[in-house]
Amino acid sequence: MSGAILPGATIGVLGSGQLGRMFAIAARRMGYRVHTFSPDDDTPTGQVADWETQASYEDLDAVRAFARKVDVVTFEFENIPVATADEAARHVPVRPGGQVLYTTQHRLREKTFLSQAGFPVVPFRTVHSLAELTAALIELGVPAVLKTAGWGYDGKGQAKIGSLEQAAAAWQAVATEEAVLEAFVDFQCEVSVVAARGVDGQLADYGAISNTHANHILDVSVAPASVPASVTRDAIEIARQILEALEVVGVLCVEFFVTKQGTLLVNELAPRPHNSGHLTFDACITSQFEQQLRAICGLPLGSTELLRPAAMANLLGDVWQAGVPNWEAACRFEQVKLHLYGKQEPRPGRKMGHLTTLANTTKEAIDTVLAARRALLEPLLGKPTASRSSTHDSR
Ligand code: AMP
Repeated sequence: MSGAILPGATIGVLGSGQLGRMFAIAARRMGYRVHTFSPDDDTPTGQVADWETQASYEDLDAVRAFARKVDVVTFEFENIPVATADEAARHVPVRPGGQVLYTTQHRLREKTFLSQAGFPVVPFRTVHSLAELTAALIELGVPAVLKTAGWGYDGKGQAKIGSLEQAAAAWQAVATEEAVLEAFVDFQCEVSVVAARGVDGQLADYGAISNTHANHILDVSVAPASVPASVTRDAIEIARQILEALEVVGVLCVEFFVTKQGTLLVNELAPRPHNSGHLTFDACITSQFEQQLRAICGLPLGSTELLRPAAMANLLGDVWQAGVPNWEAACRFEQVKLHLYGKQEPRPGRKMGHLTTLANTTKEAIDTVLAARRALLEPLLGKPTASRSSTHDSR
């Protein structure tokens, strides 16, 4: 295929977390080399990449030197300055492009793009002051959710407002100059669609995945989603149209609320592989990470076929609260795959890894993956071995 970036080439990854790590595993399996760039070292991505540059995203000299050493740049984290992507783009293709980053890293720009393009979004207002917040609360009603306009994820920079009297405290809590007030959606459930678009416009999607959150952080994902076929069809269609409208080259995830009436509202976009798509690593012919690689390299996209119903449960740092998790107990579930991201500090709320299982039904998959996660908390028998204690630093 002419112009494709072929195995042997080096992929530059901006960001160095678990998404980059799983991308690097997929890329190295296909014979590519990986160079990651972030302000940190010994990172989840760096541990499996060929090269790791530790520099600030604002250090454009370092960005230039990095871009000159790679054949294409992608990102695994969207909260990267657009100037960083622009500097890299002077030297190599950046996929998805900086304009996708620009739109999706800022809630207000993202919502404005979605609503202007006619996609269904949660009713929202822009607020710059307590007075504007109060006016918006009167218009939208309570409960409502106040969110910072930029740099938010996993419920960070969010405050739920139950009454007008709570407005001042919420405004103080988000501590920002620009915010978005959203109506609170009493949803039936949440689903996401991970989709990819190639250099030539080819589209592929993983269908709808059901998601449940705990404390605003994804907890469990299940595929296929337990929603009517018409909801799945509509979600896929909206996701495909969003990838086309943004001219994404790469992977993008659309998160939806399914209302009690069965209609869809777009909650947010992530211009990269997504936590809800982690189960594709074990459950699909082509994982979302390999798909990102194929898309950004200009290769044909792979099959997204789901081999069997699957479920994924996140492992947050909280699992370490009582000490080293009982890995052996979880591994006794022979259908369960353990993924750990190589992070040293298991802080509460921090994504440390996940478990995935395939089963005959989604219910069986959920039950098994949750049982395996509970098994991690079983007391360890005897003394911890050296390999166990090396996965965390304090008991
Ligand atoms: P976000 O970071 O905006 O995706 O929010 C994380 C999670 O918080 C969502 O997946 C929902 O479970 C919940 N949430 C966020 N916004 C709303 C809303 N407007 N109404 C109801 N729940 C929400």
